[in-house]
Amino acid sequence: MISKAELEFQKRMEKFIPPKENWTPIDKALFTQKTYFEDYQKSLDLTFNAIKYSFNHHFENNSLYRRLCEVNNVTPDTITSKEDFNKLPLLPDSFFKDYPEGKGFLKWLDNVYTGTTPMPTFRTEIPDHDNVIEEFNKKGVSIMFTSGTSGRFSFIPRDNGSWNRLKYNAMRSVVELMDYNPNDTVVLLIPDPRLTNLTIASLFGIAYDLYNSENIHVALEDMKITTQYLRMQRAETIGIKEKIKAKAMSKLSPIVLKRSDNKIISLLENLEKEGKRANIAGPPFWLNRIMGRMIKEDRKVKLPDSQVLTGGGWKAEEDKRTPEETFREKVENVLGIPQDRFHDVYAMSECSSVFLSCEGHYKHVPPTIIPLVLDENLNSIGYDKFGRFAFIDPIPESYPGFIITGDKVKLMERCPACNRKGPVLDIEVSRLPGVEGRGCAAVMADLMEQEE
Ligand SMILES: [Zn+2]
Repeated sequence: MISKAELEFQKRMEKFIPPKENWTPIDKALFTQKTYFEDYQKSLDLTFNAIKYSFNHHFENNSLYRRLCEVNNVTPDTITSKEDFNKLPLLPDSFFKDYPEGKGFLKWLDNVYTGTTPMPTFRTEIPDHDNVIEEFNKKGVSIMFTSGTSGRFSFIPRDNGSWNRLKYNAMRSVVELMDYNPNDTVVLLIPDPRLTNLTIASLFGIAYDLYNSENIHVALEDMKITTQYLRMQRAETIGIKEKIKAKAMSKLSPIVLKRSDNKIISLLENLEKEGKRANIAGPPFWLNRIMGRMIKEDRKVKLPDSQVLTGGGWKAEEDKRTPEETFREKVENVLGIPQDRFHDVYAMSECSSVFLSCEGHYKHVPPTIIPLVLDENLNSIGYDKFGRFAFIDPIPESYPGFIITGDKVKLMERCPACNRKGPVLDIEVSRLPGVEGRGCAAVMADLMEQEE
């Protein structure tokens, strides 16, 4: 039986699905099955074709990737069956921040881009990163960015088609793993996603495709997060002039934050009064700060039908993170949202899939990607052991989506908590030792002056 939410979802999805006669094997893998987690195997079989297609595409049209293949003696002829997928050369995620500054940056971007780069014309020979992002946006290429604790940015270019596929793919997970109602209120604890290409904002910004925009509340409106803004926040700028400018741009003073938090708390109180439900989404540290305020001011609420979706991880310091279970208890205690309505998502700029947890808190892997867990020698170690996360993502056409991350995960063949099909990632995802802290939550935490 097709639920009302599913019908509404299908209506919203139509614009992301190209006409059938133009489908590539990638589109077939994404759009053929009406569910991902019931017909997991059927979609996965189509994903195998998509991977072969995608590998050929990047081998033929991306000279950087082709060189990597040649060094490893891999050609499209080597990859004949899914058993050969472990031969696919993988790129380290650090590849996307390994660019030269200045004049070489555009050349680098051109090399990363598979096929002909829709290169904009720039007024200067060395445009800054924000200018590059803006001009590419106009050309239909969205360059997502994030930065790790080192302060160095990663840039991932996505053509319009690949971005639409990512959105569709992520939305499927939301609809199948959460309690989706298009008329829900949404509270986004992020800067306005329509004003930035910062990964965490862009991904949570998918809410605008799932829900009615008049029901979406953004915690920090009118806040344009650019790479320059972030660089200045990190005090990496030189010269007193820049410092003064940085100070002037710094809007996230404790007063601004307090005002924003209070606005959100009042909103939650109103929702409680009106008996409405909401989806509250953002990085955990942000929600944690709001809950801290609510405890201090004795303003707890009860929203038993609402949901929480956290993502972006904690701050850079892994040792300061709260175990998810403790955090879930706090959410239940302060917001009155039951633990089975708490979800967390593991996502990153380089990946077209999001790994969203079910009511049992395991993160489900959609059938549109092949997950891998690697040992120190980068050999696949299969299920039930902790190792380095890597993936074969056939979705992007503008860069090769065959990538090794710096995250430590454990893959399980099936979910211990629910009946959805396909593998899951264990609840806690962390950074491997010696790898710099991951981007988005760290970047956001940096933006916020801590209150005493
Ligand atoms: Zn599950």
